Formats: sequence, structure tokens, C-alpha cells
Amino acid sequence: MARRILLLGPPGAGKGTQAILICNTLHVPHISTGDMLRDAVASGTDLGQQVESVMAAGELVSDQLVVAMVDERLSASDARCGYLLDGFPRTVAQAEALNDLVVNAIGTVVLLEVESDEVVDRMARRASEEGRSDDKEETIRRRLDVYESETAPLVDFYGDAVLRVDGMGTVDEVFSRIMLGLAHA
Ligand code: ADP
Repeated sequence: MARRILLLGPPGAGKGTQAILICNTLHVPHISTGDMLRDAVASGTDLGQQVESVMAAGELVSDQLVVAMVDERLSASDARCGYLLDGFPRTVAQAEALNDLVVNAIGTVVLLEVESDEVVDRMARRASEEGRSDDKEETIRRRLDVYESETAPLVDFYGDAVLRVDGMGTVDEVFSRIMLGLAHA
């Protein structure tokens, strides 16, 4: 079964939730650039100060900063036998940079497909439950636009490596679909 997995899908598709389940089952590290950047903001590092307002506006952090962060993370020993990337790459330039960093960087790309009405509902719910500063309504719309223009082209970039998974339904239903798809990938 593929050990180098990329999880792709619009914000609110449930990538973070599924990522944790997949990583616990396959015993690979969960590398989430969103989590890493939020940690940097929370601890007030130089990087955190640089990216805080960009993230709050729903825009993408520069490729250069994110690629450097991922480069460092992928050099850690736990990433040697595999990993799940969540939220990276998010642009074609990042995908190209990843190919330069690692030979055969991605085995399977899991694309979580969710209807756009459902995505907006889920994010609005998360906004009230978790208070993420980028889950405000206008920022949600901006993040969806950025996904369509910057990240959706990765589906073509990765071509045959893409495994389309229906992201509608319960967490367990979606997880079962992913594991079934990965077993046959
Ligand atoms: P979601 O899955 O809800 O879109 P993430 O937690 O993956 O959110 O990311 C939150 C924010 O962090 C993004 O809106 C963006 O500002 C920044 N970010 C995360 N990953 C990247 C990346 N690979 N490139 C640029 N910006 C990123």
C-alpha cells in the first residue's frame, strides 16, 4: 500500500479529520502545513509573525516559505519511510518543488470531493465551535476561490495518481472509502 500520500480537497472537505485516521492506521507521520503554520503563529516565531495576516485573510503563504518549512520537516527521520501530506502542495509551483526535494514524492493523491454547499456549512459550523480566525464567512469564500484557482489544477498535474473519494457522509464512511481505495491503488 502506498506510504507517500497526498490529501487534496477544498477547505472544509474533512482533510484534517481523515488525515489523523489514515496516519494512525498506516503509521506514517501527518504533515499538515496548516497546522505547522498555526503553531508558528501561536508561538510567535518569526515565521508566525510573517504569515499571520496572510492566513487570516484566507490567502496563501508564499511558496518559498512553505517549501522551506516542508523541506525541513521531510528531512526528519520519521518521514523516511512515508508520510501523509495535508495541505501541501497547494500550488503547481509547490508540487514541482516537492518533486525536486524527493524522488517519487507522491504515491497516491487522495482527492476528497465534497459539494460546495456542504463545505460552506461545515466551515461555518467549525467557526462557531473552534473559533479559527480564517473561518469567517468572507474568508471562507476567499479560501474556496483560492482553492479553485491555485490548488484544483493539481488534479491534472497528478493525473493517474489521483484517487477520487466521495467525501460526503459520516467520518467513518469516508474513511472506509479511502482505505478501500488505497488498498487497490
Ligand atoms: P484548510 O484545509 O481549511 O484550507 P489549512 O489548515 O490547510 O486549511 O491551511 C490554513 C491556511 O494556512 C491557508 O488558508 C493558508 O493561508 C496557509 N497554508 C497552509 N498550507 C499552505 C501551503 N501549502 N501554501 C500556502 N499557504 C498555506
